[in-house]
Amino acid sequence: MKAIYGNVPVDKTYSMKEVYLSDGQVCDNCSMIIKNVAVIESEGGEFTYEIGLDCADALTSISSMEVLEAKKQLNRKRRFIRSLLAAKSIIIDKQYDSFFFWHKEGITDWNSWYKGRGLYSAFKDTIDKLNAVITYKTL
Ligand SMILES: [Zn+2]
Repeated sequence: MKAIYGNVPVDKTYSMKEVYLSDGQVCDNCSMIIKNVAVIESEGGEFTYEIGLDCADALTSISSMEVLEAKKQLNRKRRFIRSLLAAKSIIIDKQYDSFFFWHKEGITDWNSWYKGRGLYSAFKDTIDKLNAVITYKTL
């Protein structure tokens, strides 16, 4: 049986709207520091809470499969960001809102053995902090 103890009222039905990674957010339910954040909304949109995936898993209206999928998604993203943080060369194509990165230095033109690629707008903040050579061009 699922049970949850904390600040989120359990007499409501919730759905998971979004999940994201955090560095030190506090769970609205249990007040612990959380890294995997789920934004949950009560039926009708009256209440919104940001809680850890473990607390989300304890809510009866959110399925364990959904939580498992969210965990997988966030783990993929965490691995991607870890790889991106090691980037030495990046090519950003603003026209198509995309970027490619390499762990090798000196890449300023397209080649196919890139380490990863993604939506530029989604990772702009991470890219801005990198100590990598960035080339802007349309690929
Ligand atoms: Zn919690």
